[in-house]
Amino acid sequence: MKYAIAVVGSGPSGLYVADALVRQWPDASVDVFDALPTPYGLVRGGIAPDHQNTKAVIRALERTLARDGTRFFGNVEIGRDLQYDELKGAYDLVILSVGAEHDRPLGIPGEQLPEVYGSAAFVGWYNGHPRYRNLNPYLGGASLAVIGNGNVALDIVRLLAKTPTELATSDLSSHAAHAIANSSIRDLYLIGRRGPVEASFTPIELAELGELQRCVTLVDPAALSATVGAHVPEKEIKVRQRNLDILRGFSERTIDAATMRIHILFYAAPSSIVGDDHVRGLLLDRTRLEGGNALRTGEQFELAVDTVIAATGYRTVSPPGVPFDEKRGVIANTDGLVEDGVYASGWCQHGPRGVVGTNRTDATALIKRIAADLEQTPRSPGKPGGAYVDRLLAERAVQVVDFEAWRRIDAAEVANATHPKPREKFVTTEALLDAARLAH
Ligand SMILES: Cc1cc2nc3c(=O)[nH]c(=O)nc-3n(C[C@H](O)[C@H](O)[C@H](O)COP(=O)(O)OP(=O)(O)OC[C@H]3O[C@@H](n4cnc5c(N)ncnc54)[C@H](O)[C@@H]3O)c2cc1C
Repeated sequence: MKYAIAVVGSGPSGLYVADALVRQWPDASVDVFDALPTPYGLVRGGIAPDHQNTKAVIRALERTLARDGTRFFGNVEIGRDLQYDELKGAYDLVILSVGAEHDRPLGIPGEQLPEVYGSAAFVGWYNGHPRYRNLNPYLGGASLAVIGNGNVALDIVRLLAKTPTELATSDLSSHAAHAIANSSIRDLYLIGRRGPVEASFTPIELAELGELQRCVTLVDPAALSATVGAHVPEKEIKVRQRNLDILRGFSERTIDAATMRIHILFYAAPSSIVGDDHVRGLLLDRTRLEGGNALRTGEQFELAVDTVIAATGYRTVSPPGVPFDEKRGVIANTDGLVEDGVYASGWCQHGPRGVVGTNRTDATALIKRIAADLEQTPRSPGKPGGAYVDRLLAERAVQVVDFEAWRRIDAAEVANATHPKPREKFVTTEALLDAARLAH
């Protein structure tokens, strides 16, 4: 049966779903929309630029986009260029895979100060996401705090601590490379509400903090008396133990000739950001753990910092008209089903957790579910799909970036890079669209 299917979002979840759809229904036409002129979501705009091996998953995602019967509609935002109702009218099935791209507020006083940034914005800035090109985060002070105890927080402190030489083989955007090279920051604080056992670091990323050229990573040995306790799920025990071992190694270090320091602070919950017009410090409550939960003890301390980055979570912004679960910050759905013929997958379905590969497992499960739904309540294909959408977008003068146009952007970015940098990203929509038009 030849279904016309729309997938909204070309991040890992959208593309793994597109792949699974074609495996399930080889005749289906699958149109993948993305608001950006570039595909791959957070693989391009989130994963750290010095982790090029992780970004290699793009090769597999690219094969999906290049497949006959699958079309890429880059630079088409649902809610701006096409409406959700129009999509439902044009396609037999719609899969929403729009991610969770926006920062969750910290919810503490002082958050509105100019030197406070969410990690989505900060990571987007160094990764060349057009939305954050002009963020210009303040890196002119002596110290910066990153709130959060996950891999995103590790990525941020690691990149800020690296030298230009260490970053030479990354695809860090030039504006960010320049700002980081010229930053005066000497002390980076990584702050977690809970303890070393509860931190959701992965050991490989944590260990990288011990291998930096100009920076030493320090942790108070008193914070490491914890043991991997009963509240840790069985499958996590090894990882948490490994993290503890790595942290114990850090705790034995002293401040030597290093010009920068990363201080890992546990059992500290932010209470407010201090400052009138500018950030002067961060007020923290000491915490203790009860059953894995952090409880504030009433004891406070202040850190003098000039910049604060909150790496404490993301929420989805869904296109207008899509049912939304305000409490969870995701598209309202029951095991992926949003409404008749509409499903959600990836971070916009279950929130921001899991690695790239998790989206693949989720996609397989979702397609099984869709197939079961269709068996129970058959729908006959017959909606007009891409041909109708092409007409609408042409009437609206939207410059659609198809797969070939994306390949032109890709080639130009690679050609513009100076060895050993793998690519020099275009960081504005205009520059991306200009590159897409080349040789047209
Ligand atoms: C900072 C950071 C670092 C990470 N590092 C790693 C790592 O090293 N290794 C790892 O395995 N995982 C990593 N992850 C996790 C991984 O990136 C996610 O699991 C994955 O990207 C989630 O996929 P997704 O498709 O749900 O969302 P996304 O990747 O965010 O994709 C969503 C896509 O939807 C598009 N979109 C949004 N709204 C619209 C709209 N209205 N219309 C059209 N398109 C729209 C967006 O432009 C985007 O392309 C990291 C995540 C973050 C935040």
